[in-house]
Amino acid sequence: MSYELQVLNPATEEVVASVPATTAAEVDAAVARAAKAQQGWAAAAPADRARLLRRFAVVVDEHLEELARLEVREAGHTIGNARWEAGNVRDLLDFAAGGVERLSGRQIPVAGGLDITILEPLGVIGVIAPWNFPMPIAAWGTAPALAAGNAVLLKPAETTPLTALRLAELALEAGLPQDLFQVLPGAGDVAGSALVEHPGVAKIVFTGSTRVGKSIMARCAERVKRVTLELGGKSPNLVFADSDIEAAVAATPMSFLDNSGQDCCARTRILVQRSVYDRFLELLAPAIESVVVGDPADEKTQMGPLISRVQLDRVRSYVTDELQGIRGTAPDGPGFWFPPTVLTGLAPDAPAACEEVFGPVAVVLPFEDEADAIRLANSTEYGLSGSIWTRDIGRAIRVSRAVAAGNLSVNSHSSVRYWTPFGGYKQSGLGRELGPDALTAFTETKNVFISTEA
Ligand code: NAD
Repeated sequence: MSYELQVLNPATEEVVASVPATTAAEVDAAVARAAKAQQGWAAAAPADRARLLRRFAVVVDEHLEELARLEVREAGHTIGNARWEAGNVRDLLDFAAGGVERLSGRQIPVAGGLDITILEPLGVIGVIAPWNFPMPIAAWGTAPALAAGNAVLLKPAETTPLTALRLAELALEAGLPQDLFQVLPGAGDVAGSALVEHPGVAKIVFTGSTRVGKSIMARCAERVKRVTLELGGKSPNLVFADSDIEAAVAATPMSFLDNSGQDCCARTRILVQRSVYDRFLELLAPAIESVVVGDPADEKTQMGPLISRVQLDRVRSYVTDELQGIRGTAPDGPGFWFPPTVLTGLAPDAPAACEEVFGPVAVVLPFEDEADAIRLANSTEYGLSGSIWTRDIGRAIRVSRAVAAGNLSVNSHSSVRYWTPFGGYKQSGLGRELGPDALTAFTETKNVFISTEA
């Protein structure tokens, strides 16, 4: 049955576009076309594949401002962030292109012959992307999958299909073969499910909620389909008394307010050593209150709206009036606005302290000593990111080793670089994306023994 997706501008609630959505039958047809295109792509000379991907990167760069403006309109991202995101797609394509000619197997010593491994592409890859970082997350899967010789079917989130559709047009403009990279906008339980369940799709790369991730993993298990999951987070920001408190405070607001908190790496559990707890909060209040929230297209804006009314209602459900804390400001009127919020005085097992809110809301909890800090940091089902603020290098290393999370940073809040590995421990995910091994995740290893005795 045919249907349409309505794309809203989250800052104004105006309709930006209406996009035809993909039916299950159309997914079938897309898989068949992709499988055909993939055979030619895998057979092409590595240098030619690399050259086309580099050209794709150049074309993205030439359209960087257009892509960024589109991201502002459909996702409400600040223009500065949106430019970074479009640039990230360019860089991912460039980085992946550099890997095509380096994607080599091994030669392993054996008796009586020669043993080699060959890395072969998987075939057709389904990338199911979320709305929080529509462009970069789509490219995290797409760029290395293409570079490793696969075709890609990308299903963007219902609310944010426009940049993905534009990227598919730019791929053709750059000269990538027809049907090699197709974008299939549509509902998760229609187009997404069709990709997950299709026997012609060799691997699913999913980023989104833990709930949907678990159902995708279960359905992939039916066919032993490969799967990578990037799921939720509730990441700690550990502030020790021996840290540079001023620097820790200055970095705190945007560590959970960037992208209006709709970031799986957002440091939403601020854990502060009790001896500096009061001082930390005293310094944090003006820093939160002065965050500039408003029109995302304005260069001075630091935080825009939430993506949708559903998300706004979800965030509101965690922040009831009687809760204490620090509140910033946000515009009234149309748009999905929520002010920067820091909650204090909560129990560590309160819903806002242990569930992923996915909005501009953090909690501050005190801890006594290093052991208590580690215990609190590890006391959620998630394990994606985290930060450790201390001047003691031994402590920085000890705590980094003890916190069960895939991406930690010391005296900073950095999480994602396209050339370093990214992924979660525990229920934050399965597998790794980005980094030096990104292409290998889209290959099968074939071992071949060639006898020298015959
Ligand atoms: P979601 O998990 O429902 O959607 C993510 C993607 O999966 C979308 O493209 C969606 O269409 C697709 N999808 C949904 N149901 C599917 C199904 N049955 N089969 C195949 N694909 C399906 O996420 P959401 O509803 O947009 O957000 C809900 C919550 O998830 C957020 O509040 C947040 O906590 C979390 N989330 C996390 C991330 C992240 O980066 N880890 C991203 C988005 C959302």
